[in-house]
Amino acid sequence: MVQSSVLGFPRMGANRELKKATEAYWGGKLSQADLLTEAKRLRLEHWNIQKKAGVDVIPSNDFALYDQVLTHIQDFGAAPPRYTTQNLDPIDEYFAMGRGHQKGGVDVPSLEMVKWFDSNYHYVKPTLQDNQTFKLSANPKAVVEFIEAKEAGIITRPVLVGPVSFLALGKPDRDQTVSPIDLLDKLLPVYEELLTKLKAAGAETVQIDEPTMVFDLPAKTKAAFKPTYEKLAALGDKIPKIVLATYFGDIVHNIDALPTDVYAVHVDLVRNPEQLDTVIGALGSKTILSAGVVDGRNIWKNNLKRSIETVEKAVQKLGKDRVIVATSSSLLHTPHTLASEKKLDPEIADWFSFAVEKASEVAVIAKAVTEGPAAVRAELEANAKSIQARATSKRTNDPKVKERQSKITPEFYNRKSEFPIRIAQQQKSLGLPLFPTTTIGSFPQTKEIRVQRNKFTKGEITAAEYEKFIEKEIQDVVKVQEELDLDVYVHGEPERNDMVQYFGERLDGYAFTTHAWVQSYGSRCVRPPIIVGDISRPAPMTVKESKYAVSISKKPMKGMLTGPITCLRWSFPRDDVHQSVQAEQLALALRDEVVDLEAAGVFVIQVDEPALREGLPLRSGKEREAYLDWAVKSFRLSVAGVQDSTQIHSHFCYSEFQDFFHAIAALDADVLSIENSKSDAKLLKVFVDEAYPRHIGPGVYDIHSPRVPSEQEIKDRIEEMLAYLKPEQLWIDPDCGLKTRQWSETKAALTNMVNAAKFYRQKY
Ligand code: GLN
Ligand code: ZN
Repeated sequence: MVQSSVLGFPRMGANRELKKATEAYWGGKLSQADLLTEAKRLRLEHWNIQKKAGVDVIPSNDFALYDQVLTHIQDFGAAPPRYTTQNLDPIDEYFAMGRGHQKGGVDVPSLEMVKWFDSNYHYVKPTLQDNQTFKLSANPKAVVEFIEAKEAGIITRPVLVGPVSFLALGKPDRDQTVSPIDLLDKLLPVYEELLTKLKAAGAETVQIDEPTMVFDLPAKTKAAFKPTYEKLAALGDKIPKIVLATYFGDIVHNIDALPTDVYAVHVDLVRNPEQLDTVIGALGSKTILSAGVVDGRNIWKNNLKRSIETVEKAVQKLGKDRVIVATSSSLLHTPHTLASEKKLDPEIADWFSFAVEKASEVAVIAKAVTEGPAAVRAELEANAKSIQARATSKRTNDPKVKERQSKITPEFYNRKSEFPIRIAQQQKSLGLPLFPTTTIGSFPQTKEIRVQRNKFTKGEITAAEYEKFIEKEIQDVVKVQEELDLDVYVHGEPERNDMVQYFGERLDGYAFTTHAWVQSYGSRCVRPPIIVGDISRPAPMTVKESKYAVSISKKPMKGMLTGPITCLRWSFPRDDVHQSVQAEQLALALRDEVVDLEAAGVFVIQVDEPALREGLPLRSGKEREAYLDWAVKSFRLSVAGVQDSTQIHSHFCYSEFQDFFHAIAALDADVLSIENSKSDAKLLKVFVDEAYPRHIGPGVYDIHSPRVPSEQEIKDRIEEMLAYLKPEQLWIDPDCGLKTRQWSETKAALTNMVNAAKFYRQKY
């Protein structure tokens, strides 16, 4: 029989209970015992959901209070000494690594947290020592939770991050030089011990995630897979049978590294269906294929017919007992359940499937393949109807949008003149001094702003009242900027709840949820809007506020937009048209907005693209080049409609451009602001090496901390930057938006920043 399985389930709970409990614990409002009880309750609930859905293989140890990689760090005795020497209890030590700890005389910052592959989830990076040792904790979480489920009558498949990926995703601690993969021989005994314990507890199978297998790997890492799994295989019946899981890409380029002596291999057939034959060809003679056909990264209802066909193809070659139907990856990246969405238009709601619903989908597919389609006829018929309805709905297809896309010509991507001509005109009309000062867009989002927005959303105040309130906020922000003597003002973005949602709400082709939260990191969740159909802009989105801001400002006012790639990446995209098509539609909508802003007297316009980099395909080569090509084109399409004298800015929340510098340069933005304040100014060298001609604001202080930088610190920073950038190229700005800061620290920091800029203006 073909079994069904889920690789991991979201942890937060239908109402983000885990978020609430952990935050209450951090705030001293919930005891540790109560936090652990709540976590246990959620695990049990999630196992039961999957059981009820008919899933045969249910995961355990996919849960984490903060992050699953962090759990491994702690359970393997790999917490850096600065945490283990603080005498914290294990739970607090765990949170200290995740989010820092500043209490009771202990003051340690968190470990580095970075994006999990190309998702918006962040994991804590294993941070290793030159003399690193590993030791399995006395009560490894994987064993504890397996037993917990067993006692509830559910035999689960524990999930572990594999040894090669654990190390490959790690880094040496600061001042250390160890190459993590060299620690493999030291780490393996810990896995052997853990697996032995799991088997003793009753685990028949275990899921070991080795998602790094989808990367372009250094030779040493690639060569590590086979011997590692041979060693584990040598333990025979002493350990559970291993399901080796890969996802978020294909493994064809690493197929020679695929271990053959594992019980099963899982591959992502949503992303890379074409890898099926190659993978089947490379399996050991008895190895099972776990076919990831239900998307763990998106919210669309599965096309059951198509998935069944894929699985049947595998069954034809391998037989029913050697195929498992699975989610493509963990469902961590999907919201909990569609059942919570009471406000969605039923037409659209019928197209979606969240984690709970996806669990049913794998079960239905497995049943269809095992017993024949008749066994699930009703489900298949209903599914075919939904798929058909979505494909033909007016809401997905807008001929006007398609028509407009078909009329894009090469000129659409180019400004009227080259940069030297543009900048001369901009200098003339804007009249900016050397070392111009500006900010990145948002000013502190105070409690009052949130209160008024809530009131407006709930209908407790009228649109006119809310508008008045926003105008008052803009007035205040303009006044502050006047007092600070900044050179290019912003309106402060008080009207924006979120930089993507705000635009999504004003565009046709988007849908919104009320409960569809997805964990981003720790207790932080995001609720991405959903692109359901062709996108267009029914009316201007930001012109009213910007125009008002211009009318009360004596200096240039910068209009503020979120770029096409960031809108796309921070939404759930459609899966029925290529992402480049969606980006192009977003770009056209933004292009109209840019032109309208210009017509309203806004002659500096910033189009933020903080998500450009995270969209970079995981492997270099053709796919990455193709992405950069359409991403750059979308940006250019969105801004190129303006006159030479209008200055286009863009902002990125990172400074590592080295690996795709040509794309950044190709954006042709007049001014780029980046987040270099915490990084080495040396990263700016690439701008020199590549003779980058345009303007740059590298970010002179870190806005992620309440700390106020002194004038001298900022001067030092500018001095470092001037080693790489020409004075006439350099803008002076903070490294990101100020929305999360308090007013007092913001004013103090900006005062120092403006003074530092003035100092250099004098000097040059
Ligand atoms: N303009 C946005 C702001 O200032 C930019 C935010 C971002 O880069 N993430 O808030
Ligand atoms: Zn930023």
